[in-house]
Formats: sequence, structure tokens, C-alpha cells
Amino acid sequence: MSIRLFVDFDGTITRGDVGNLFFRTFGGAACDELVRRFRAGEITARECFLGEAEAMGRVSSGALEELVDAQEIDPSFRDLVAFCRDREVDLLIVSDGLDYYIRRILGRHGCGEVPFVSNVATLVRPGGDGRIEVSVAFPHADAQCERCACCKRNIMLTSSAEEDIIAYVGEGYSDRCPVRYADIVFAKDVLQTYCQDENISYYPYETFDDVVVRLRRLLERTRLRPRARAAVERRAAFRHES
Ligand SMILES: [Mg+2]
Repeated sequence: MSIRLFVDFDGTITRGDVGNLFFRTFGGAACDELVRRFRAGEITARECFLGEAEAMGRVSSGALEELVDAQEIDPSFRDLVAFCRDREVDLLIVSDGLDYYIRRILGRHGCGEVPFVSNVATLVRPGGDGRIEVSVAFPHADAQCERCACCKRNIMLTSSAEEDIIAYVGEGYSDRCPVRYADIVFAKDVLQTYCQDENISYYPYETFDDVVVRLRRLLERTRLRPRARAAVERRAAFRHES
């Protein structure tokens, strides 16, 4: 038995929602409207991303880099990375954001070796003026569900063995689906309210130090049980896919 740990990126590892800031800074109010329509269920997550990338238009690559490089991470994330390495806990970041800024932010903060799965952004230079366009792609979209562009549930299930205990750390909208399939949930901010409403047991946390303390205690146990409802949900998801 081993614990596999999945961690959200925006608002969980970073202080704020970088994806949102990224598009809003360059795409303006059009991006707010796209997000509103997405939250209202009027457009899919992929349509929202494509619209936001279009609203951005051409931007200076320097301004893009400056924005991304101003983003801070929770410094305790590095302690979680070290803990997972020492205790052989598999850590994977799962994000419905873009690889461009995730890679850059992790690298800048000494966490460039931590694996992640996300949507893909390609910076295209259509002219010779140093301005770029962002082209987005969704290699991890689910065939049926359109609520997220990158399906965290599928990533969790395909990268875990049946006997693994799945732990998840998150805070917001894109974490609502994956926590239903996780045995151990760490929640802060609005994800706590969601877990309460859905009767999903969770550990509240403020920083990754809280997560490390809890994981250390859990690993002292001789046996960890899967969360019964999560196990049922996982089996149902596999039946649905096969
Ligand atoms: Mg988030």
C-alpha cells in the first residue's frame, strides 16, 4: 500500500489564481464574461480557454514573463516536496491551468523536478515584432465531461493502482470533482464548503506544513483504509469507461 498525493496548482501551490490573472490582465473584461458563462454552464471549459486566448490577442512576451515571474508560491510547498521524496510518496500536480506558467513558476522556485499534468499552452510568434499569441490545447480532456478542460479524475485513476490510497490537496472549483474519488482530502477555502455540503470528510489545512504533519501521522499507521464512498465512485468511473 502506498499513498499517492495529487495537488492542485492555482490557489493551492500559488497564492492566487495565476490562470485567471494571466488571461484577465491581457484579455480584459471579455475574459471575466467568459468565466461567468462557464460557471453558469453556458459554455464548456475548453470554449472558455479558447475564447480567453483569443481575447488576449498579441501580447509582448516580456510582459507575459514579468506577470508570471511576479507570482509567489506557498514556501511550505518545498517542504512537502522534500517530505514526499524522503517517504517515497508519489507526488503529482494536477491542474486545469496552463503548462507555460506552471513550468516557469515551479522552476523559479526550485521545484522544477516536480511532475505535473495540465493543459498545454504554446506561444506562437506570428510576426517578427517579439509579440506572441497563446495557443491552447487540451490533451487530458475527458471524452464525455466538459466541466474541466484537463480531467483530474482520469489522471488520478489512471496513475493509481487499486490498492493505492489516493490523497488530494486543493481549494477551489476544479477540485470539486477529484475530491469525490480521493480517500484522503485536504481542503481549504471554498473547497471546504463543498466537502461539507457533499458530506466528504476532509482535513482542513492552511499551509503544506499542516499536510505534512497529517501525512506523517497517517504513514505511522499499519494500515490505511480507502474511503468507502470514494472506492465506490472509482469503481463506477471505471465501469463507465470500459
Ligand atoms: Mg485551484
